[in-house]
Amino acid sequence: MTSASFIITNLKEAVTLEPLAKENRFTQISNKDLGRQANAWIAVTGQKIVGVGCGEVDSNFKTFANIDGRGCIALPGLIDAHTHPVFAGIRSDEFCRRLDGATYQEIAKQGGGIQSSVKSTAEATDDLLESLIRARMNTFAQHGVTTIEMKSGYGLTVAEELRHLRLIKKIAQNSAQTISATCLALHAVPKDQPSAKKWAEVCARELLPIVRKEGLADAVDAFIETGYFSVNDCALYLETAKQLGLNIRLHVDEFSDSQGAVCAASYGALSADHLQFASPEGILAMASKGVVALLLPGTSLYTSIPYTDSTPFKKAGCAIGLATDFNPGSCPVDNLRLVLTMGALHCKLTMAEAVAAVTWVPARSLRLEGEKGALTIGRDADILIMPLTSCEEFVADLGRTRPAFVFAKGRKIFSPD
Ligand SMILES: [Zn+2]
Repeated sequence: MTSASFIITNLKEAVTLEPLAKENRFTQISNKDLGRQANAWIAVTGQKIVGVGCGEVDSNFKTFANIDGRGCIALPGLIDAHTHPVFAGIRSDEFCRRLDGATYQEIAKQGGGIQSSVKSTAEATDDLLESLIRARMNTFAQHGVTTIEMKSGYGLTVAEELRHLRLIKKIAQNSAQTISATCLALHAVPKDQPSAKKWAEVCARELLPIVRKEGLADAVDAFIETGYFSVNDCALYLETAKQLGLNIRLHVDEFSDSQGAVCAASYGALSADHLQFASPEGILAMASKGVVALLLPGTSLYTSIPYTDSTPFKKAGCAIGLATDFNPGSCPVDNLRLVLTMGALHCKLTMAEAVAAVTWVPARSLRLEGEKGALTIGRDADILIMPLTSCEEFVADLGRTRPAFVFAKGRKIFSPD
């Protein structure tokens, strides 16, 4: 399929999320906000949606190539706003050590965990890393994901972080899927650094200016958690990022209240992610600053930590997204549709909130809501066509059903044939 004009017809329904896009609203999401249209069609020219309707096809589009969507529903292409796909090596031995009773922290102390991936990734050539990332993007595509946030963070030297971010940039330049790159240099403290604070200062002074100059990332990230980086450790890094015009996303309060949610709000972060132990004042501060709460239930499934309850976030007026947190250690889940069902159930989201949490809200968390996250005229033609009967079936599906088609900017990036 080239990026010529085409029209997808006979759709059982299109879940457009148009009401939210119209109001530019990310909270208080109810069923009517899904903008469901029965017997729908979607017209595409080049990279953009040029028509969405129901019933008789608009005569303007009668000459477009037809794709029969009979028996299918359409949704906006899914957006995975938190992934760690730049790594080599496998850590299944650590999983089995956890089955034997070792904790994640004990494994990390013995040179496992993030440090283990840092070592295998450093040993991987550019070609190997690139092919691994591309293969992972294909898997995301098979699950309907058209936009991927990708973090560095298994480099942990200035040179390696730059190498990984340059690879992401190279891949992003010729990909139909949209990639948003994040510099997660503060993922763990490198073994040769005297302290977390010293490494954060090195990153602020030496790494971030190059990241900015070469346009290697849209945002920076840090792992704010006891035993990793404190709010104080990160101060210069986050202030420098702000001064350089880089956005901020943060891993916060996953194992304990480390004041990460408060910190995310104080820096005007785009999102704060994990949040199991976020304090009530942190949640309120996030809501008042429009920080998206990005919940990662796959990590809870794989490491037996609690799920984040979205209830206090909703009460406070926070926008809520769901993402995979795909990574080699704590969450090898790469299926955002599985995360959608799990998140709805365990993080306590309604059907409408869950659908918005993998489309419209993460678009906001990447500042892409003008182009993505809804099926409306003028937005990117990122479209997920599922062989299912309804939005209800999509949310209940647990990621079992493969898409019929996935389009990214008007290009077909997956179909099972
Ligand atoms: Zn993560």
